[in-house]
Amino acid sequence: MKHGVPLDASLDDAPAGFLSFSDDGTIQAVNGTLLTMLNLTRADVVDARVETLLTVGSRIFYQTHFFPMLRLHGRAEEIFLLLRSKDNGEIAALVNAVRRERHGSWITDCVIMQVRERQKFEDALLRAKQQADDARRSAELQRAAVETANAQLERQALELELTQRQSEELSEELSAQTEELSVQAEELGRINDELMLRSEELEQQRVVAEEANRAKSTFLASMSHELRTPLNAIGGYVQLLDMGIHGAVTDAQRDALAKIARSQRHLLRLINEVLNFARVEAGRVEYSIHAVPILDVVEGIRPMIEPQLAARRLLYEVDIPRSEMACVDLEKMEQVLLNLLSNAIKFTPPDGRITVSTEPGDGADRPVRLLIRDTGIGIPADRLSQVFDPFVQVDTGHTRNAQGTGLGLAISRDLVRGMGGDLTAESRLGAGSTFILTLPRAESAR
Ligand code: ADP
Repeated sequence: MKHGVPLDASLDDAPAGFLSFSDDGTIQAVNGTLLTMLNLTRADVVDARVETLLTVGSRIFYQTHFFPMLRLHGRAEEIFLLLRSKDNGEIAALVNAVRRERHGSWITDCVIMQVRERQKFEDALLRAKQQADDARRSAELQRAAVETANAQLERQALELELTQRQSEELSEELSAQTEELSVQAEELGRINDELMLRSEELEQQRVVAEEANRAKSTFLASMSHELRTPLNAIGGYVQLLDMGIHGAVTDAQRDALAKIARSQRHLLRLINEVLNFARVEAGRVEYSIHAVPILDVVEGIRPMIEPQLAARRLLYEVDIPRSEMACVDLEKMEQVLLNLLSNAIKFTPPDGRITVSTEPGDGADRPVRLLIRDTGIGIPADRLSQVFDPFVQVDTGHTRNAQGTGLGLAISRDLVRGMGGDLTAESRLGAGSTFILTLPRAESAR
């Protein structure tokens, strides 16, 4: 059967496509229904091969499955193929085919049913499946996201718990510290109260002590006065006896009178010094301060000490510039210097040296420093600070020989301090002593 051969009229417009082709693929017959289905004319299929009616995918399927199946089984049913229309459109169709020998050659006859509806259903099915897949995938994604979020939440919850525990511990520690602080504050308050009480007590004690001191000084002053009057009387009567007013005096009596007179003088000096000290201590000394050249004060007392200097063969040097001026009470200053120089003479063995000098001052605002230096017996280091205390005498063999009361330095320092200065000492046992007077400087008259 050739394709040019007209088909039976009922087959030509049967409600299904019809196609015959030989084993080499050449189309043998096509009915009108198939030509209409594929929008072809009969001329289009003259000598054409069956593959030209198929899409590329169906062509491969035809060669690898469809035709081998026909050769093996002689038939194929409900095979789905995509046909190619003239305008390259795809026509889905189900094919039933039978391969049989006819007039000595192998011919395959196919009935072709277009499957518009089934295609639609399949498309819908495919789309539904795809959507289901998409939905499943997105559900999975969401599940994964939820799991991640969950894990994160759990981590955060853990962290929160940790920080909460830490802050609880911290607040416990803080409250403990606060408690401790309040205990300490209480303790401090108590100590403060105690201190206030103590300082009040101390203040009371100071007032009592000051009163006692004043009473003591007043007592000493009046007692000294009471003692001085009879002592002066004793001195007077001794002199009268010595002069022979009450009759002749034997040598032994004169000797005894001299001893009485010496003791009387010593006692009087002692009482005078006690009186002096009591006056200074009681603050009953008035100062009359003037700018005075230091050299004048020192030279003014020279006549008073010269006999003693000569008696002990002591070298006496004064090295003070005339311009050196201090603000002092002249009389008190003389008393202090006399005291210091008497000590220097008293505690320096014969042929020694006594020097009175000022340190070269380098500024008008610096105090005057007046040094009374001797080459005498010196003072042991451990007693140096005590020599200014009242009634202190350093116990050397020499001191016992030298007469004194132990009040001179105490009075001198009080007087110098009363003038706004100070008195200190430097000494080395056996190497001499230096007493240093610090005095308020006066404007130099240079
Ligand atoms: P007094 O001279 O009447 O004993 P002071 O108060 O003047 O009393 O002196 C106290 C003591 O200081 C003296 O007894 C003496 O031991 C010591 N002293 C004072 N001046 C000197 C000095 N220049 N050298 C050595 N010792 C001294």
